[in-house]
Amino acid sequence: MATIRSFIKFWALSAFALYGWLRLKSTRSPTLIILTYHRVLPENAPEREFEQPGMIVSPKNLKKHIRLIRSIGAVPVHLEEWLRKKKAQEPLPSLSVAFTFDDGWRDNYLHALPILRQEKVPATIFLVTKMVDTEETFWPEQVIRLLRTSGTSLNDPALEWLRPYLGELANKSTPFSLLEADRVINCLKDLDDATILDHLAAFAHTLPKKQAGTSEKSPPILQNGDLAEMAQDDLVKYGAHTQNHFRLNRLNSQSALEQQIVGCLSDLEAMRINSTPIFCYPNGDTTGSGKQLVANHYVAACTTKTGWNKLTRSEYDLHRFNLHDGNSSRARSLLATIGRSL
Ligand SMILES: [Zn+2]
Repeated sequence: MATIRSFIKFWALSAFALYGWLRLKSTRSPTLIILTYHRVLPENAPEREFEQPGMIVSPKNLKKHIRLIRSIGAVPVHLEEWLRKKKAQEPLPSLSVAFTFDDGWRDNYLHALPILRQEKVPATIFLVTKMVDTEETFWPEQVIRLLRTSGTSLNDPALEWLRPYLGELANKSTPFSLLEADRVINCLKDLDDATILDHLAAFAHTLPKKQAGTSEKSPPILQNGDLAEMAQDDLVKYGAHTQNHFRLNRLNSQSALEQQIVGCLSDLEAMRINSTPIFCYPNGDTTGSGKQLVANHYVAACTTKTGWNKLTRSEYDLHRFNLHDGNSSRARSLLATIGRSL
C-alpha cells in the first residue's frame, strides 16, 4: 500500500514539476515570481530543534534555488525595481524572480547574505521593527521551546490558558515532537498575538532564570550592526512587516492598526538604512481598514496567496511562493511547488 502511495506521489510531483517548468519556460508577457523564505539554517543547526519545519531552508538549498531559477532563464530582480519599472511602463524581462525573507531573522545575515553576495542576487527582508536589535523572539518559537523542553509541567497554573489548545495532546508530557508542537501553534492562532505573548511572559516569570531564557548564544533577530553591514552594497533592502508581528485581523482598534502599519514605516525610515515602502502582511491576514492604510502609506504589499504576478496583478495583492526544505530540496519538488499553484 505504502509503495503504491509513494508511486502515485512520485508521478504527481513529476507531473506538477513538468507543468511548472513548461509554464515558466513558455511565459512571454512580463511575469514576476516572488519567493518567500523565513529562516536560513544549516542542516546541523541546533535552532532546527525549536523551529517549525515550514520556516527553514538550508543554505545549500537556497543556493540550489538560485541556480535553478537562473538555469530556466529567470532574472533575479529587486522587488522595488520591478514595481518601479512596471509603473513607469519600462521594459521588463519575460520572467523575473524576487527573493523575499520574512521576519528579519539573524540567520539571514549569517547564512543567506554570503550566498546572495556570491550569486549577486538582490533581496528584500521584511522587518518587524520593534524586534530588531533585541533578544526577543516570536511567540511560536517560545511555545515550541516550552513544549519541547522536557520537564515543562503542562499542569502548571500559569499554563492554564494553553490547555484548551492542546487537544488530544493534553495528557502528554513534554517534550513534544516538532510536529505536535506545530499542531498546537496552529490551534493557538485562534487567540490574538498580544494575549499569547502576555501569557508566555507571565509563565516565564514563574520559571527559574536559566529555563526562562533561550540557550542559543546569539540573538535570533537581526541586530543594528547586521542591518548596516547588509545594506552596504544595496543588494538587500528592508521592507515592513509591522512593529510587533501582530496579525492585522486580530487588532481591535484603528489606532492599533495605524501603529502596526504606519508606525512600522516611520521606524524603518528612522533607521536610515536601505528601506523600501513595501508592506508584508503577517500570516497574510488583513482587514478592509488594514488594506486602506497600507494603500495610503506604501507602494505595494505582499500576501501569502500563491501564484505568479502578471502586469495586471494589483501591486497591493502580490502573490508569492513559500519555500522551505520540505517543499523544495530538489529541482523537481521546487518546480512542482511552483507548478501546483500556476
Ligand atoms: Zn512573518
